Amino acid sequence: MTLVTGLLSAVHSPFPADAALFPLDRAAPRPADPAQPYLAVRRLGDMTRITEICRPAEARDTNSSPVVGRRAFLGLTAALAGGAGLTACSGQDVHTAQRPSRATASPALKRTTPASSDWSALGQDLDGQLVRPGDQDYSTARLLFDPRFDGIMPAGIAFCHSAADVATCLAFARRYIVPMTARSGGHSYAGWSSTTGLIIDVTGMSSVSLDSSTGLAQVGSGTYLIDLYGTLSAEGVCVPGGSCPNVGIAGLTLGGGVGVLSRAYGLTCDNLESLQIVTADGQVRECNASQNSDLFWACHGGGGGNFGVATSFTFRTRPASDIVLFFLDWPWSEAEQVVAGWQAWAPQAPDELWSNLHLLASPGGSTPTIQVGGTYLGSVSDLEAELGNLYAAVGSDSSNPYVSSESYLNAMLLEAGCSQYSVAECHLPWQATGGQLSRQPELAKSDFFTTPLSSSGIGTLLSGVQSLQSVADEAGGQGGVAFDACGGAINRVGPADTAFVHRNALFLAQYTVTWDTGAASADIDQRAAWQREFYASMRPYASGQAYQNYIDPSLTNWQQAYYGANYERLTEVKATYDPDHLFQFPQAIG
Ligand SMILES: Cc1cc2nc3c(=O)[nH]c(=O)nc-3n(C[C@H](O)[C@H](O)[C@H](O)COP(=O)(O)OP(=O)(O)OC[C@H]3O[C@@H](n4cnc5c(N)ncnc54)[C@H](O)[C@@H]3O)c2cc1C
Repeated sequence: MTLVTGLLSAVHSPFPADAALFPLDRAAPRPADPAQPYLAVRRLGDMTRITEICRPAEARDTNSSPVVGRRAFLGLTAALAGGAGLTACSGQDVHTAQRPSRATASPALKRTTPASSDWSALGQDLDGQLVRPGDQDYSTARLLFDPRFDGIMPAGIAFCHSAADVATCLAFARRYIVPMTARSGGHSYAGWSSTTGLIIDVTGMSSVSLDSSTGLAQVGSGTYLIDLYGTLSAEGVCVPGGSCPNVGIAGLTLGGGVGVLSRAYGLTCDNLESLQIVTADGQVRECNASQNSDLFWACHGGGGGNFGVATSFTFRTRPASDIVLFFLDWPWSEAEQVVAGWQAWAPQAPDELWSNLHLLASPGGSTPTIQVGGTYLGSVSDLEAELGNLYAAVGSDSSNPYVSSESYLNAMLLEAGCSQYSVAECHLPWQATGGQLSRQPELAKSDFFTTPLSSSGIGTLLSGVQSLQSVADEAGGQGGVAFDACGGAINRVGPADTAFVHRNALFLAQYTVTWDTGAASADIDQRAAWQREFYASMRPYASGQAYQNYIDPSLTNWQQAYYGANYERLTEVKATYDPDHLFQFPQAIG
């Protein structure tokens, strides 16, 4: 196996600064002429939602710069070998990662709340570090991506470096009365990768290695998407992912994984060859089409946090070819025709063409905007022919078209709102040295659409977006809806072939609203009320299905909305691998 890169991100790393031991090139190649299309793309890219969310940091937290440490790397290597104490690639489908433990040595006759000494013993049992309240790193170690959850104070954050560390944490959770959750990129829209108990953080298992003879990439479960893109693209390959750079590969894959290459290559989970997961009983299980195949099936969209803690994924890779990006604007006065034209064109386009449609407004703001953006795996001239079909469907050309061919990595940086940054900079400050991104609160809801919007549906949509303008401007932010085209490779998989049931949608809608950090609760409530009403108004037109990765605590029929007819089989898998419901959250399966 060719080792491409060792530790990618020493997230919240408590290890000493000996990064030179592990030379990692996280710098993205810059365009030959940075003043040319790149800047134009950046301006247009700034109009996308992701740029709004993953924006440059206003201030660096100098106390939280990560370092890459020797101990971290060794822990990672152990993780990729199957966990401390395990034989790498043993061919067995189940390993035990149990080891002598101070915290969990004696079998529990009665579950009790852990004492401070029990937590200390847990920390000693880990190869990684346990961060507790009062520790120097606690203030950043506990944070998720969304500042809405900054008030959650975990009793401990275990930075696991191996499957054995994960098993030790699960034994602790079984032994004591302590809520527990797994965390990878920390992007859960509901904050369910944090807890007042124990966070099992896997970002110490951040790695990508490529077997060039098979084209299979082994990816540590704590790898951020931008690191995956950066490392694999240097080898000329990629795995289809998502857009926000710091979403974790674990949460993304387990819930599906929608991105700019989905129509061409399928969801992230559709490219999964195998995975390693530690289940509630502490067993380290290899899952693929023939080993633990029911669990493997469930890990294709059954949702993060349900069946165990994934420690690594093996993906089939695809060529990281150049991508033609496009951004097309129309005046709001033509929004009705643009929506009608886009929904007829985008889901039926060739697989190589992915696009989205953004309708955005600002509280108290001026006229909303409408923009079609997308990617094409092919030549600029072929794309222009396809765009001609869109213009014909809309009835007018874009007022301000932008089309540019970019390297795969530059395209992904742009989609991530990082066109002006290197891969290293395209992180939160505590995720990587030089990280430039910052966080912004956001509420999201979703709908899959299986039939085109009628003219009354389009009218309702446009009114819903416009109505944000009547919300007071006090707290900043934006709101609207982004439609991602489905079809293509996504829909060529049967709804029961994987746990990801949504295989007949034309497009996926995400309704979002953001505001400035520190906004008054009344202003936040107004934005939330706007989103609720807008979403409610779209009920007659949507399919009733929702994307499990845009997890939505307010959904009451989430079992059906996320999983449809696959829910029953998912409960059977849950009963097999987590009969005592150790993995628990408000929308947990079973
Ligand atoms: C700004 C933003 C942009 C997004 N963009 C996209 C996109 O382009 N495409 C897309 O498909 N989705 C996107 N999402 C949704 C995203 O895929 C989900 O929020 C996903 O669950 C996040 O994964 P994570 O690892 O970052 O989050 P986490 O919060 O760490 O985890 C999410 C869930 O998975 C569980 N989990 C975490 N690690 C593990 C593990 N190792 N094993 C088992 N369970 C685990 C957690 O307990 C939690 O329940 C976006 C979300 C945000 C906030």
